[in-house]
Amino acid sequence: MTAPPILAFENLDVSFQTDEGLVKVLDQVSFTLGRGRTLGLVGESGSGKSVSTRCAVQLNAKNIRIGPQSRIVLHDRDGAQRDLLQLGTKEIQKIRGGEIGMIFQEPMAAFSPVYTIGNQMIEAIRLHRTTTKKAARADAIEMLRKVGMSSPQQRIDQYPGELSGGMRQRAMIALALSTNPRVLIADEPTTALDVTIQAQVLDLMRTLQSELDMSILFITHDLGVVSQVAHDIAVMYLGRVVESGQTRSVLKNPQHPYTKGLLNALPTVNQLKKRLSPIGGDIPGPLERPTGCPFHTRCPQATVGLCDQIMPPPTEMTTGHKVSCHLMTP
Ligand code: SF4
Repeated sequence: MTAPPILAFENLDVSFQTDEGLVKVLDQVSFTLGRGRTLGLVGESGSGKSVSTRCAVQLNAKNIRIGPQSRIVLHDRDGAQRDLLQLGTKEIQKIRGGEIGMIFQEPMAAFSPVYTIGNQMIEAIRLHRTTTKKAARADAIEMLRKVGMSSPQQRIDQYPGELSGGMRQRAMIALALSTNPRVLIADEPTTALDVTIQAQVLDLMRTLQSELDMSILFITHDLGVVSQVAHDIAVMYLGRVVESGQTRSVLKNPQHPYTKGLLNALPTVNQLKKRLSPIGGDIPGPLERPTGCPFHTRCPQATVGLCDQIMPPPTEMTTGHKVSCHLMTP
């Protein structure tokens, strides 16, 4: 990945304080979102994708504990850097929904049901930019048009509950983009949509990305979706990044047994008769975190005495393509 970085996650260690003690959920997570790129963060639920990105905007629960060496660095165009983990409440509030926009699986999480779409968009715009109500309304209408809303002049005065699921998703994207964010965090934005709408939303995000010069952190459990939208990919398992690199390189030449397992479980149009082989076993619960390689309890190639004892370090196989597995030799 050659683009300059815009958001870099460095050695993110995260635990939650619970009645049972400290529960580790992220272990030395590092990955970088390049300027103008889309990074797909992939893994099953419980892999730590959402916790990682929520750390960037300080949206996690109060019982979170972050390691002292952890940093999430937002790079400015002039070379300045800000560690988002160190920012105070006011500073992070300015960034959240401003420089960093967010969209979620469920649009109702982004909207209040008691205000119109327009009221909420105008408020967001004026929170992050000094402008009149009239100009903010014009910008909101323009953004609704950009995301493909029919009759945006009328839609802007509707309540979220009056829109269909696909329209609400578009309205949420418009809300997130109305402040011209440099980074968009998209957390499973198409999971709840049917396939046709999903394709439209993915297409829309691709178009808006180049139009608005935005970088996207796209969280999904679906490698098929990621192959359509992401330039780069980071595969997570139980709070660790196990494989990362350019999407083409990782998907064409997967190296980690977990990535291979995810791909084997994916149906393809060309091989409809192929028997799908899901990864055996379940992802261990947070209280049962294995020692050594976190995947050893499900890995068909695990070596007893090595994989269950020692954490494999990341190895760079080809430029930018990193894999954490004892089987790897560069
Ligand atoms: Fe499997 Fe061992 Fe590699 Fe982990 S380190 S993925 S258990 S072979």
